[in-house]
Amino acid sequence: MNRVFFLDFDGTVTKIDTCFLMVNAFAGDGWREINDRWEKKEISTEECASLTFQLFSAGPEDVKKLLDTVEIDEYFDDFLEFCRVQGDEVYILSDGYDLAVDTVFKKYNIRVPYYANRMLYKDGFRIDCPYLNPECGRCGVCKSSLMNKLKGGAERVIYIGDGHSDTCPALKADLVYAKGFLYRYCLEKGIPVVCFETFQDIIKHLEY
Ligand SMILES: [Mg+2]
Ligand SMILES: [Zn+2]
Repeated sequence: MNRVFFLDFDGTVTKIDTCFLMVNAFAGDGWREINDRWEKKEISTEECASLTFQLFSAGPEDVKKLLDTVEIDEYFDDFLEFCRVQGDEVYILSDGYDLAVDTVFKKYNIRVPYYANRMLYKDGFRIDCPYLNPECGRCGVCKSSLMNKLKGGAERVIYIGDGHSDTCPALKADLVYAKGFLYRYCLEKGIPVVCFETFQDIIKHLEY
């Protein structure tokens, strides 16, 4: 079967959310209130990031060093191999940052096409959102519109994720593998969902 997988990055491929990791380390306490407003959809990802970066007390080297400590799901490699053998396509859609995806993928020698916001530095960090969708206005990386563009002629669109930025694309998928907030959300909305802890659970479910 011709399948395409769209994957969230933070907390899905990685064991922890790299955005939370960074703000926890470098943004003092003020970020929580900003994040709450983002979760309530009062502000966009772009606004949220711009406000949060103003609180940052770190440079690119500090950030890279911290991101180098991030670990991924132990079975992610197996999942990629499984998809390769099956001829399924895999894309990462992250409303986090290219710097995080890049650093982690280099560390683990992973090559998967990804779409993320850009984290730039010049007298402080700032966000650039090349995959913004003006019609959406909320996401930095509008996952739903990217899915529409990337799915091609795939017979089945499968989404894998865990958080708030995954709710919109989950509604557009044929099947969702989810944990945490996203799992509860899918149950609530009646979206076809399978709970997972690690990518091994997903491989097993797909083989079954
Ligand atoms: Mg996530
Ligand atoms: Zn969007």
